[in-house]
Amino acid sequence: MSESIPSTGTVHLVGAGPGDPDLLTLRAARLVMQAGLIVHDGLVDPAILALARPAARLVSVAKSRSRHTMAQDAINALLVREALAGNDVVRLKGGDPFVFGRGGEEAEACRAAGVAVQVVPGISAAMGAAAAAQIPLTHRDSASIVSFVAGQCKGLTEQDWSGLAGKGRTLVIYMGVATSEAISEKLMADGLAPETPLAVIENASRPNMRVLRGPVAGLADLVAREKIKSPALIVIGHVTAQPENELRTFALEIAQ
Ligand code: SAH
Repeated sequence: MSESIPSTGTVHLVGAGPGDPDLLTLRAARLVMQAGLIVHDGLVDPAILALARPAARLVSVAKSRSRHTMAQDAINALLVREALAGNDVVRLKGGDPFVFGRGGEEAEACRAAGVAVQVVPGISAAMGAAAAAQIPLTHRDSASIVSFVAGQCKGLTEQDWSGLAGKGRTLVIYMGVATSEAISEKLMADGLAPETPLAVIENASRPNMRVLRGPVAGLADLVAREKIKSPALIVIGHVTAQPENELRTFALEIAQ
């Protein structure tokens, strides 16, 4: 048993950021460039995978809401099997591995099998989208609390979101496009003013990024009218209403 331990590979749970390869950490870029095996999900941009060595094995375990190319158990088993066979694995995930990325489950499965895990943080979609759309998630005048929620989880309607949106708060919803109608109804039923501003950021940091704005009451219409598709984030709160020219002036002042 003790003889097999040195030959066991390490699983690196690596955040690939929101899309733009420039938003990889140096550590993530180094691991991708050196990897022999990369197990990646669908959100990882092809430009990032292009950094891999030609000889690297690239395994896609892309998941979508309706079609599971590979179930989570099978992904966990793949990581463990490869590591126990002596291979280091770069498990590349969109954004940050520990923000709605099921990285916690993969780390648990590896540890349970005696496989060492290393975690490399990534720029989560909330930060990537906020930066790209120039929406400050916090602002001294309007928001000092930020929440990240999953809009597509089981039992959405029963979940208690009370107080997550409203005065002084920014609410960031991941995976919320398909359930946008239920989301806005839930928030308004909880007392959120229908005119509360929001922004939907689709494909943040990518060349095809779109930023769309509107009131909470119009969320489902906005998603339908603009044919917004995943990956997109919904950001709700007064920070999204900052006039862009004011932000530009602010950025210029900082730069000077
Ligand atoms: N671990 C990832 C989130 C995975 S959940 C992270 O930290 O970012 C997948 C959701 O993330 C998508 O449904 C979408 O809501 C959001 N997302 C990921 N990349 C995005 C991007 N480039 N632009 C907008 N939203 C994105």
